[in-house]
Amino acid sequence: MSDQTKKKGLFSWYFNANLLLRILIGLILGAVLGIIVGPSIAVIQPLGSILVNLLKMIVMPLVLTSLVVGAASILPKELGKIGVRIFIYYMLTSALAVSIGLLVANVFSPGAGLQLSASADAAGKALTQPKFIDTLIAIIPKNPFGALSSGQVLPTIFFALVFGIGIAVIRNSEDERLAKSGETLFNVFDGAAEVMYVIVKWILEYAPIGVFALIAVVFGKQGASAFGSLGLVTLTAYAGFILQIAGVYGVFLIINKLGYLKFFKGAREAMITAFVTRSSSGTLPVTMRNMNENLGVPKKISSFTLPLGATINMDGTAIYMGVCALFITNAVGMDLNMTQQLTIILTAVLASIGSAGIPGAGAIMLLMVLNSIGITIEAGSAVAAAYAMILGIDALLDMGRTITNVTGDMVGTILVSKGEKELDMDKWS
Ligand code: ASP
Repeated sequence: MSDQTKKKGLFSWYFNANLLLRILIGLILGAVLGIIVGPSIAVIQPLGSILVNLLKMIVMPLVLTSLVVGAASILPKELGKIGVRIFIYYMLTSALAVSIGLLVANVFSPGAGLQLSASADAAGKALTQPKFIDTLIAIIPKNPFGALSSGQVLPTIFFALVFGIGIAVIRNSEDERLAKSGETLFNVFDGAAEVMYVIVKWILEYAPIGVFALIAVVFGKQGASAFGSLGLVTLTAYAGFILQIAGVYGVFLIINKLGYLKFFKGAREAMITAFVTRSSSGTLPVTMRNMNENLGVPKKISSFTLPLGATINMDGTAIYMGVCALFITNAVGMDLNMTQQLTIILTAVLASIGSAGIPGAGAIMLLMVLNSIGITIEAGSAVAAAYAMILGIDALLDMGRTITNVTGDMVGTILVSKGEKELDMDKWS
């Protein structure tokens, strides 16, 4: 059934309308209704949860099958080159992102003059920084099926890569029997991956309704506070997100002679999905689809760089950490010197790598950044009160972080594909 096939029946008006337009309408209607109705709009939450569950349902099967196929169809040397390139890009943009966060926060000074008292009734917990080497070792899954079933992306990526390379080896073997079974296995995974793409397409048909519900609930609960006392911190964070998306990524695209508007046109479904689901991992199915179908990225590259990016590349989260660290220190009347600001840059990059691509992860990892400059959260302290304030609007901040995170993954993937001369330029003309 092609996209062009006109559907007939009771819901034909729905299915025949342009998908993106439907999603946009869902987004706007949801925001408006949420603000009008207020917190009681939460009754429609299940409609949003259906979309989130559907996306989550498909993520791990999609990552596994497409990555196995990707790794099996690429030379290990090429894979290494792609890995190095994307890693450099991810690190560089994350460091830029925290710096932007600190910059906008220094300009707008959110939280200054709040003078929170120490009697505030809020609790938090200190977070001990995991050892770098332990984090690295944990990428190797002790039990690949366990990693797969509990949705751990990095260990699954690791196993899928090794498994895919294994398939490539026996597929190219001199031994006819081995070559044949390698080919069979490749076809099985290739077929399974194609089925996952079809399911993603079906899930997207439901997206407008899910988007509507998700956004309505957030605006119903938190819309007012974003315009109220926490307006400045929301504004500052969003100034950072916009600078990163329009400025940093824009410059990267332009330097590489890639159309700015073409990018947004091709990537907007994924951007909107990221915004409303607040989950880079959950958005992966849409991100992959947009990159492959709209912007000419080959699956063998995106199947590797996008799941990796959804796990380790969090530019929006890095910006948020810069802004919120300054918000909290301002709110409690603490001055940060240059060394402390540099420490924030370094730890925020690490903390953003460590943040999972799920809703709210960044807010937990912020504690690690605060720890690095000697701030721990004790129940009843002023710092805890400031932290509680931003936690109160975390959904709104998380929407901006996640759209930035996902956009960064997409731009990186496009740049690496172009660098590898694998980008289908017909999609950009
Ligand atoms: N929700 C973000 C994401 O999935 C992570 C975060 O909380 O910062 O990308």
